[in-house]
Amino acid sequence: ATARAVTVIGLGPMGRAMAGAFLDRGYGVTVWNRTASRADGLVARGAVLAPDVERAVAANELVVLSLTDYDAVYAALGPAEAALAGRTLVNLSSDTPRKARAAARWAAERGAVHLTGGVTVPPSGIGGAESSAFYSGPREAFERHRPALEVLTGRTDHRGEDPGLAALMYQIGMVMFWTSMLGYWQAIALADAHGLKAADILPHAVETAHSLPGFFSFYAERVDAGTHTGDVDRLAMGMASVEHVLHTHEDAGVGTLLPAAVVELFRRGMDAGHAADSFSSLLESVKGPRA
Ligand code: NDP
Repeated sequence: ATARAVTVIGLGPMGRAMAGAFLDRGYGVTVWNRTASRADGLVARGAVLAPDVERAVAANELVVLSLTDYDAVYAALGPAEAALAGRTLVNLSSDTPRKARAAARWAAERGAVHLTGGVTVPPSGIGGAESSAFYSGPREAFERHRPALEVLTGRTDHRGEDPGLAALMYQIGMVMFWTSMLGYWQAIALADAHGLKAADILPHAVETAHSLPGFFSFYAERVDAGTHTGDVDRLAMGMASVEHVLHTHEDAGVGTLLPAAVVELFRRGMDAGHAADSFSSLLESVKGPRA
């Protein structure tokens, strides 16, 4: 195997985009997927479909994994354990930091190096200069394979040796993504109850989303300094606002699970005596106790 050669295991939308990006850059690409037919388009473009996963792993030192989660990684690699020694596994499957650390140990026990990756773009972003991914694990392996990793995403960010760190950064992005998108669905549901289409509220939704980075930056400094004084905003004001949101949904007969959960968090902050403090004091309510 040459240095510009890679194995990609897992050909979902992500793995296919990754294998495709390597082909576009002239890499020798060996692929394997549980459902072999997903490799057809890549084979037509010059990829080699390994007859089994063991031979896919054996084909190259660099093995990129793009599977649903870490359970799928073990399921896929189980029959290839004998071929793992000496391989660098770049695991771009998403899962928890704890599972990433366990997988690094699992790989090490089999003589392989495990680099955890967290890709922050959808398949359409793979191969783009503006896309980015987090990595963690042995820096030496990351540096050695950096040119190949930069085929996948133009920007790469090695967070440290702890294999859990890249998974953590990925999950930090995901909690923001999923809760924000649910906020968007909620807004669309409220609009819909009043005969408005998603397109009708799009400019307003986009403008609202664009206002958030300013708030992130403003509060980051204060939060890190432990400053939650009510000099710029007061939790009691926010409490009234989120109750208006909840009541607007109730009046329209729209589901209130999400706005009610928001009111509940504000209520806990109020009960803890933060009425006159900043809304950032809610961090305490968010942190726990659980549920
Ligand atoms: P998919 O879930 O569509 O891809 C799944 C791949 O895993 C397929 O190749 C599938 O094989 C394989 N697989 C699942 N279970 C098993 C198993 N038990 N044994 C063997 N193979 C298995 O995911 P994506 O391609 O969309 O994404 C891959 C990873 O990238 C995921 O962890 C995802 O969270 C992450 N990611 C995805 C993004 C996206 O927008 N799609 C964005 C950022 C990260 P088969 O074809 O046979 O079913």
